[in-house]
Amino acid sequence: MNEFLLRSLISGSIAIVLYLVSGAVVSKYWNRNVNRDVFRHDFKWGIASLVVGSPILQGFSVLAETYGISLLYTDMAGYGWLWWALSLPIYIMLWDLVFYLGHIVLHMPWVYKKSHFRHHACRPPVPWSGIAIDPLETLLSGILPYVVPLFILPFHVYTVYALNIGLMVWATVVHSSMNFVGNTVMLSTKDHNLHHAYGLKNFNLGAVFTFWDRIGGTLNRKVSPPWWGNPNWRINTKASVNGPALAEEADGAS
Ligand SMILES: [Zn+2]
Repeated sequence: MNEFLLRSLISGSIAIVLYLVSGAVVSKYWNRNVNRDVFRHDFKWGIASLVVGSPILQGFSVLAETYGISLLYTDMAGYGWLWWALSLPIYIMLWDLVFYLGHIVLHMPWVYKKSHFRHHACRPPVPWSGIAIDPLETLLSGILPYVVPLFILPFHVYTVYALNIGLMVWATVVHSSMNFVGNTVMLSTKDHNLHHAYGLKNFNLGAVFTFWDRIGGTLNRKVSPPWWGNPNWRINTKASVNGPALAEEADGAS
């Protein structure tokens, strides 16, 4: 089997196992009951995003290693330990910036109606919703945030893997019912749950830090998601799974 296929198979399998473990663990503690079929919607799109995303990332890795594309490096101490330590938060900040910009694109009407509504149909979200995204969204909010920072500054290859595993776990957390309201620096479970309460016109577009939403004027902490603290909150999500998400109906937008 050629190297690319083998690597895609291995990394895809590892990613799926990590998604299963983190989804199951976070669900054990911070789940909520919803009246949609989580397996056939959230979980199905979660697996789909890994099946689509893993070969693309492996393709990129093979190119990076073979032709030296990007500033990825393999010697842990190559740029010194100080840079290595600094590179951890810097990578996540850059990742979050690219995610933020991609998320603005996902909330443009055409892109939202063709793609991102599927993620917003996870309403209220559960841990399995974390990476429940279709292939176009996988490109915008999975692949680009991962890859673009590697062209801006040098990052260590295994560190990048580890951080992206952490970011996937974080995705399951911010879609859960964990009572984390956030702080000055970090976006919270509550912030991202509120994002899911709305559709096309939205805010709280970052994934990890508040910086980019503050700079973009899109941070909203004034209201709570309608289901916050209410385990019995239910909505008929049939319409949102099959068509534009519900906030469009609420907003009056078509
Ligand atoms: Zn969104």
